Amino acid sequence: MGLFSAISEWSNGRYEKRVSKMQEKGLCPDCGGKGIHTLPHEHLYSSTFHCPGCSGSGLFEDWMK
Ligand SMILES: [Zn+2]
Repeated sequence: MGLFSAISEWSNGRYEKRVSKMQEKGLCPDCGGKGIHTLPHEHLYSSTFHCPGCSGSGLFEDWMK
């Protein structure tokens, strides 16, 4: 096993953990239930956009679709 596959296995495990945690709460794992994403480095204009994972609802149900 190379270093890269070790890292990708580690991050896959982390992601799955996060997903199952958010599933318990019924919230979208991508946006944490907010339904939007914000880009912190943008200051000049509104940089929030609807979460593509849940279509802006913030629900785990919609994220699963
Ligand atoms: Zn979302």
